[in-house]
Amino acid sequence: MADLVLKSIRKDFGAFRAVEKIDLTFPHGKLTALLGPSGCGKTTLLRMIAGLEDPSRGQILLGDEDITARPAHQRKFGMVFQNFALFPHLRVAENIAYSLAIEGLAKPRRRARADELLDLVQLAGYGDRRIGELSGGQRQRVAIARALAQEPSVFLLDEPMSALDAKLREDMQVELRLLQQRVGITTIVVTHDQREAMTMADQIVVMSKGRAEQVGSPKQIYGKPANSFVASFIGKANFLAATAESGAYRLGDFMIEAPEARGFTSGSRVTLAVRPENVVIDSEGKHAGKANTLPAEITFIRDVGSTRDFYLTTPVGDFIVEYGAGESLPPLAVGDRLPIFLPPEHVHAFPRESTQTGA
Ligand code: ATP
Repeated sequence: MADLVLKSIRKDFGAFRAVEKIDLTFPHGKLTALLGPSGCGKTTLLRMIAGLEDPSRGQILLGDEDITARPAHQRKFGMVFQNFALFPHLRVAENIAYSLAIEGLAKPRRRARADELLDLVQLAGYGDRRIGELSGGQRQRVAIARALAQEPSVFLLDEPMSALDAKLREDMQVELRLLQQRVGITTIVVTHDQREAMTMADQIVVMSKGRAEQVGSPKQIYGKPANSFVASFIGKANFLAATAESGAYRLGDFMIEAPEARGFTSGSRVTLAVRPENVVIDSEGKHAGKANTLPAEITFIRDVGSTRDFYLTTPVGDFIVEYGAGESLPPLAVGDRLPIFLPPEHVHAFPRESTQTGA
């Protein structure tokens, strides 16, 4: 049971700091997604783990062993990159057996191992096909089989789905996750796609500008975002500028109660975030006269079958409210005026960042 641990890892390219000091544990046998927008340092972090880039500072440990200075080929980590990097002139089984040949394994054993791996990635019988005869999804499976051929202790994937179309991408995310669980290998996946991270990961590291903004399970990151960057990057949220006041939040003439509000001193400027599916359209007046209600008017309705999004204006800002197709609501139309209710347990608050403007 060897966890992969990063201790105060940092990377500078000249005067530019691509990765700020990061401390992270990748638990043994779990899948971690490095998630963030383009240029946030995900690939640089992965390349340092792979041994393809030297950290400017810090240590990389595999269990008790310090592997920071160990060259990439001696780490024996399996890797799959965006373009899969298969050898087009070799057949499928030869691609997989290639790394086994380097290891000096006898030819019949190599073929037997390649067939085992093809079975694992559900490509049994494809060993003699040419790479050019395979679909994108099949090529990706070959790349995965090849990376797993040497039984690596850690499996690294950089945007492994980016070359696939949307439908295949979703299928492969599930397939890769099931495979990873079957093999039980410590896996790190770089992605900028939050849905991909949520589908596959035990643990998500949300990155921005070289920093790890939050580390947690998909549920923790979605349900309790650490700051407004995470709340906006993972899923959708309605944001409101407010001020803490006597254990609640003031928004103009309205007071919003939430358990977290007691953590802010009166007068602090905060940003509130409420997920669209957590806002209640109070069509029956159940919350009338209570805190956390705001008068609203419907300005637009988007019905896409599985969900209905209601766009509303209120005296303190615009809202989007999402209802699932199965959730009951009376018929509503653009122009209807009715209150919305923000359930206290779903009101998240973050100290207002200096870059943000607003009330
Ligand atoms: P993407 O999703 O676009 O691949 P990323 O999150 O993987 O982005 P990185 O590729 O790690 O981002 O790059 C992080 C930052 O470091 C970027 O601003 C990039 O321009 C810079 N960078 C990466 N490699 C180098 C290099 N060899 N020399 C100088 N700057 C670099």
